[in-house]
Amino acid sequence: MTRAPHLASRLQGFGTTVFAEMSALAVATGSINLGQGFPDQPGPPEVLDVARAAIGTAHDQYPPGPGQLDLRTAVAEHQQRFRGLTYDPADEVLVTAGATEALTAALLALLEPGDEVVLFEPMYDSYAAAVAMAGGVLRPVRLRPPVVAAGEVSREPWTFDEADLRAAVTPRARLLLLNTPHNPTGKVLTAAELALLAEVAQDADLLVLTDEVYEHLVFSGAEHVSPATLPGMRERTLVVSSGGKTFSTTGWKIGWVCGPAPLVAAVRTAKQFLTYVNGGPFQPAIAAGLRLPDDYFRHVAHDLEQHRDLLVTGLAEAGLPVVSPQATYFGTVDVRPVQPDGDGWAFCRSLPERAGVVAVPTEVFYAPEHAALGRHLVRFAFCKQEEVLGEAVARLRRMR
Ligand SMILES: *Cc1c(COP(=O)(O)O)cnc(C)c1O
Repeated sequence: MTRAPHLASRLQGFGTTVFAEMSALAVATGSINLGQGFPDQPGPPEVLDVARAAIGTAHDQYPPGPGQLDLRTAVAEHQQRFRGLTYDPADEVLVTAGATEALTAALLALLEPGDEVVLFEPMYDSYAAAVAMAGGVLRPVRLRPPVVAAGEVSREPWTFDEADLRAAVTPRARLLLLNTPHNPTGKVLTAAELALLAEVAQDADLLVLTDEVYEHLVFSGAEHVSPATLPGMRERTLVVSSGGKTFSTTGWKIGWVCGPAPLVAAVRTAKQFLTYVNGGPFQPAIAAGLRLPDDYFRHVAHDLEQHRDLLVTGLAEAGLPVVSPQATYFGTVDVRPVQPDGDGWAFCRSLPERAGVVAVPTEVFYAPEHAALGRHLVRFAFCKQEEVLGEAVARLRRMR
């Protein structure tokens, strides 16, 4: 890899994200962008109206450092309602600039240089950079996709080997970073997997950091369980989530972290010197969202599930082997039937011309030394309007 001038050694290799290249390609070619995961529909009016009304009031000024008390209270109520977890809004909940800041601040606060972070691979793209900024070392555990024939849809989840997990936990391991539901695979960790992870975390005395931003975007047959709810886990776990995915407000960047007071205080120390605070008028709006009735949360997942089915069926009809996700915004295909050299990057670069659609190579969600594991896989987002997905699917079928 070529060295980027000026860039500190700990950030070498973290160039521009794939989303910038692929979104620019979508615009330049007039393609349908199923690359980046953001919805193309507004969120619930009950949430949007609160933000509009808050602009021009005292909410335009700095909120309190830990976040508005009413939002922290709403986060605690939400954790109680959906997970049965009790957190004190006074010192066990911290509002952050999205889940991204919560995760980065936690890693900066908790890791000593050389500390190892055990996590599943492929992984959300900010993790490797955030661990690097904190001076930590990645110990990835491989997730394996189910085997699928061309033109078929598998509803089997991605899996991992217990031996791989145990081998990744060395005496330098400090933290287990879990993302469930998982981006990019759409996997929801099962009760048995969570029990194993909890046992490993407790045996090795690891801190646990969980990214649960897709907690409400879970489809029939799967159930989200927060790792913090397992016996003995609450005291070692920081739970991170955000309003972006649940309320279709990814640009608002209102996130939060919940955990025992000493862990949250550590995260707050790092967070206050990153952004200090953010999103004044959006904080009361996300509080209103978190207090919406159960029906809202059911409907979001149900609607998105229809969109998932539209996309995965269309991808299979285009002749691709498809892994249907249990949750999230994303489905995965194996490109080999239509791209015989199995080069997912080349497939994505040619897809705008071949079909007028943009997707992203799953390879970017692996550490560079493991990129070969994801080379033949490509991720498509389905958090788009039905007409848009229908048109994308029609174009992909013509590619055949
Ligand atoms: C979108 C996403 C995030 C970022 O959440 P923000 O609240 O926008 O910072 C974090 N983790 C995963 C897995 C995501 O997909």
